[in-house]
Amino acid sequence: MKTAQRLDLLQTENAFEVLAEVKKLTAAGRDIVSFAIGEPDFDTPENIKQAGIDAIKENQTHYSPAGGLPELRASIAAHYSLTRGIKVAPNHVVVTPGAKPIILYSLLACVDPGDEVIYPNPGFPIYQSLIGFLGARTVPVPVREINGQFTIDPEELKSLITDKTKMIIINSPHNPTGGVLQQEVLAAVAEIAIKNNLWILSDEIYSRIIYQDKFYSIASLPGMQERTIILDGFSKTYAMTGWRIGFGVMNDELAHWVTRIQINNESCVATFTQFAAKEAIAGSQAGSEEIIREFAVRKDLIVSELSQIPGVKCPVPKGAFYVYPNVTEVCKRMGLRNSKELQQALLHEGNVAVLPGTAFGPKNDDQEYIRLSFATSQANILEGIRRMKRILA
Ligand code: PMP
Repeated sequence: MKTAQRLDLLQTENAFEVLAEVKKLTAAGRDIVSFAIGEPDFDTPENIKQAGIDAIKENQTHYSPAGGLPELRASIAAHYSLTRGIKVAPNHVVVTPGAKPIILYSLLACVDPGDEVIYPNPGFPIYQSLIGFLGARTVPVPVREINGQFTIDPEELKSLITDKTKMIIINSPHNPTGGVLQQEVLAAVAEIAIKNNLWILSDEIYSRIIYQDKFYSIASLPGMQERTIILDGFSKTYAMTGWRIGFGVMNDELAHWVTRIQINNESCVATFTQFAAKEAIAGSQAGSEEIIREFAVRKDLIVSELSQIPGVKCPVPKGAFYVYPNVTEVCKRMGLRNSKELQQALLHEGNVAVLPGTAFGPKNDDQEYIRLSFATSQANILEGIRRMKRILA
């Protein structure tokens, strides 16, 4: 029996390889401090858990409408209208099992084989994997460190546009760098999208986890709501990764088609999960605010600790819960060829798990980076960096 040829095109999240290695070492008795995982270490706030439990007890265990419960879609629409300054109606919202499906569904609904899709590199690896899987051409736009901040260069983006370009994916705050796209960059991206009649998939899953600057959505800019698909969800803001719930905000015609794809695929998100999500977005924000405050403290701690290691240059992240230090000098000093070799040395000699920059796409230049997630306790951060200092000093 033969599997389908298209499987040759399907990639994965390389982070899972490191996570599997960490699991194996831990099972063998090794004590590893892990900065590898991209999920909050907090538990889901109590009021949200209780809403889920209540919903199960009230027998909210049947199918829901495919696009999501009307009351949840209304809450999301109200939240988005308020925070993005645009008019979002419930029929612009499609609730999905996690935010991730919005990537596949947007591509399925908007992109034909042979079309080109631009996406950030480094970036969340699923963009590149799914664009290629659907037979479209993968066109990475470099995310570069400019004056200590990670961003894309609109001129470079412009140079990648062809008559085949169909969609641009942006992600702000950005995984893996913690960069946040500034208003003028968003305005330039919007101008390119309008001029070339392109879709924008705006991955805003970290939009509430932001430290200094204000968050701006490209959908708020004039003429952009129609062509923007916002991807967002509950996993990061409310520590709900395992509940599997997210959503997309898009124009009503596209929402119709995305809902139809969902009917063909998983029918709907677990109904009691949707009740928990309704409490998350419309109920008390105290739990989530506490999580975000703690991330801010950890961010300062990890940046200050990493910056003490000779040869490590660590830009201060503006959002999300990742730091993406430049480790080029460290690699040179240690005679290592790349960030992958550094990651292996840290894991096997130092008992610290990080991800190499190349887990998020091929290198843009001769610089080496690693990603550390600070979704781990302050004690773990101090211990992990102490171990790194021992190996790298
Ligand atoms: N987009 C980005 C940039 C992410 O980092 C993640 C989660 N790692 C997702 C989307 C998917 O989120 P979810 O777990 O809600 O599907």
